[in-house]
Amino acid sequence: MQLDFKCVVIGAGPAGMTAAIYLKRFNLDVAILEKGAPGGQMTQTGAIENYPGFESIDGPNLSMTMFNQVQKLGVVYKYGKVIDIINKGDYKIIKTDMEEITCESIIIATGRVPKELGLENERSLTGRGVSWCAICDGIFYKDEDIAVVGGGNSALEEALHLSEIGKEVTIIHRRDTFRGDDILVEKVKNKDNINIIYNATVDSLNEFDNKLESINVKTPDGIIKLETKGMFIFIGYEPDASFLRNLEIKLEDDYIVVDQNMRTNVEKIYACGDIIKKEVYQISTAVGEGTIAAISASKDLS
Ligand code: NAP
Repeated sequence: MQLDFKCVVIGAGPAGMTAAIYLKRFNLDVAILEKGAPGGQMTQTGAIENYPGFESIDGPNLSMTMFNQVQKLGVVYKYGKVIDIINKGDYKIIKTDMEEITCESIIIATGRVPKELGLENERSLTGRGVSWCAICDGIFYKDEDIAVVGGGNSALEEALHLSEIGKEVTIIHRRDTFRGDDILVEKVKNKDNINIIYNATVDSLNEFDNKLESINVKTPDGIIKLETKGMFIFIGYEPDASFLRNLEIKLEDDYIVVDQNMRTNVEKIYACGDIIKKEVYQISTAVGEGTIAAISASKDLS
């Protein structure tokens, strides 16, 4: 049977793009499949200052730099959202919302999606005051007051980015210490137009004319009303494993379990980047895992 590709990489974030680069350089027939823009979460990140080789680079720029390398090597780029994967043993079928693709092996690098707070009108106010992307939507709140929810590296980095656009940025964090790196915490604390409300959570969202008008914030002293038309949520990420339901692939908390060579329990299926169960979720670790997954796949294919 003539298969479409030797290997298909699902997801064009840093892990997937690195895997594709290595596979192509092993002279394998490879495609990379992506449902959004190449770069994954990097496309929604401001300044990246801990990826070696770039003292400071913004996420979309690093995404395009990696993507250009993928394209120059001649990796086939396919657009589509994977709905299902069928394992036929000798080969696999990837079903997307656009087509069916056959291949001998698969590297899954689909990353994670941003978590929601779970508030009643959070979804309906998306794009109308509620956002998960400072790079995309920050400019809509130029010289206005902005709220940021979360206390990890994403919240801190994006609060810094938004503080260059908005008038005042208020970080709402549920504890009294941040999860993010000290260097970012210091930068945030030293920024004149960033305020922090500790031990606080968003209780509800007030809207007017289908747009965010203000936020009710629950603090130890009671509910306070924060007047803002822009709220950015950075409370972590979760994997989407729904398209794996027909594979007997081992998951833990919806993350894919791999061995040290990025092999899953299913033959010729590998995983790397933020979709795998691990301790550290960084661009630099994703790139390393993409490399290992590609080397394992090429060994198994030969
Ligand atoms: P994260 O590290 O998981 O932090 C999530 C933050 O949101 C935590 O402060 C958490 O509070 C808070 N939170 C979670 N659920 C919440 C809820 N329901 N309501 C209110 N607050 C909630 O997520 P992240 O900042 O997106 O980072 C994800 C990973 O990427 C991390 O490993 C991070 O280091 C990495 N990253 C690295 C960089 C960098 O190195 N420059 C940049 C961005 C991200 P608690 O602290 O109380 O749990």
